[in-house]
Amino acid sequence: MALLVMKFGGTSVATIEAIENVANKVAAEVRAGHSAAVVVSAMAGVTNQLVSYCQEISPLHDAREYDAVVSSGEQVTSGLLAMALQKRGINARSWQGWQIPILTDRSHAKARIEDIDTEKFKQQFAGNAVAVVAGFQGISPEGRITTLGRGGSDTSAVALAAAVGADRCDIYTDVKGVYTCDPGIVPKAKKLKQICYEEMLEMASVGAKVLQTRSVEMAMKENVCVQVLSSFADAVGSDLKGTLLVSEDELMEKALISGITCSRDDAKITLRKLPDTPGVAAKIFGPLAEASVNVDMIVQNIAADTKMTDLTFTVPRADLERTISIFNKSIKNEGLEGCEMEHSSDVAKISIVGIGMRSHAGVAQQMFQTLADKGINIHVISTSEIKVSVLIGEEYAELALRALHTAYGLDDAA
Ligand code: ADP
Ligand code: ASP
Ligand code: MG
Repeated sequence: MALLVMKFGGTSVATIEAIENVANKVAAEVRAGHSAAVVVSAMAGVTNQLVSYCQEISPLHDAREYDAVVSSGEQVTSGLLAMALQKRGINARSWQGWQIPILTDRSHAKARIEDIDTEKFKQQFAGNAVAVVAGFQGISPEGRITTLGRGGSDTSAVALAAAVGADRCDIYTDVKGVYTCDPGIVPKAKKLKQICYEEMLEMASVGAKVLQTRSVEMAMKENVCVQVLSSFADAVGSDLKGTLLVSEDELMEKALISGITCSRDDAKITLRKLPDTPGVAAKIFGPLAEASVNVDMIVQNIAADTKMTDLTFTVPRADLERTISIFNKSIKNEGLEGCEMEHSSDVAKISIVGIGMRSHAGVAQQMFQTLADKGINIHVISTSEIKVSVLIGEEYAELALRALHTAYGLDDAA
């Protein structure tokens, strides 16, 4: 019989009724003879509410206290689910990150898991008890609660599955699996039976929030078998009806494009009238790197006659204010006084992802032509081996997604 890690996201535990539904799913797997550890998120909306309380006290709050506050939602659901399981005659106990312990680094609000002590867990399994683990949280070397970044319960589940050597990690959510595009935006999106780790990693990193990027990174590295499936369907994970993450050689069908994503988390900055001399890019990006501001897409135009250049790049929207203030300091300190800055948050990044791109030419051109046919202007382009991303005006995001979905033949025929 299998050793399973079952993870339930916010909508799956949004109400007491939903938690009872989750308890039925866990009970079904246990009664079928499987051993299960469960990872839960906070009830839908709770983490957002907790984050906004912190913002209201102070936008520049202490990250350690932020973690103390925002980790609390998962504590509630772990206890409630343990009770619901006990009511069904199943031996269950809740576990907070510090109790296991899930050891992380000290980067509060975006901590990385460094180690999970599985000793107590293995005892739980041996005693046939279900461990209900609060996702999203761990403990720093100083013994303080940390959180793993938004959507981090996925990573808690995959890390736990890797640590205990689970046969499968089932990620239960509010959609039936991983789709070719966000089904909430593109109704014709198709559910995929399989997707390879590399593609899922790219899709997650450019906006498919169904799995946190780090959870896919970890699944790929540790070779964890992950399935994404709906918590609202009748079937449980052992009936295998969701989307399986597999290695590239296990893929049964290799599509040219597997997925199209949209991210509204970026802001665009344009610097005009920069001197076109060696070292300018380092002067701009050095202080941003020091402040851990992640610069993503970059484009530079050279105007040879004036010896001036324009530089456009994107940063996380949440870091826009910080970027502006860092840049204003650089202007003073680095002799860039003549330069002007424009910024905009009304942008969306649309990406196409597929391993088929490695062996086919013209894939990016089809994207550019499709957007051109719809009159959508592209501000910035970036590519990787299996991904092309474009930055466009946010108001065109949905139109672009639907047009590209049709152009690459991904629309569900049903
Ligand atoms: P949970 O609370 O279960 O962790 P999330 O809200 O984090 O769920 O992730 C599930 C959501 O991800 C879906 O409701 C869907 O709108 C969104 N999503 C975005 N892109 C995709 C995709 N390619 N496939 C499936 N879902 C996607
Ligand atoms: N509750 C956390 C969040 O909303 C973690 C998670 O749900 O994965 O980001
Ligand atoms: Mg999530």
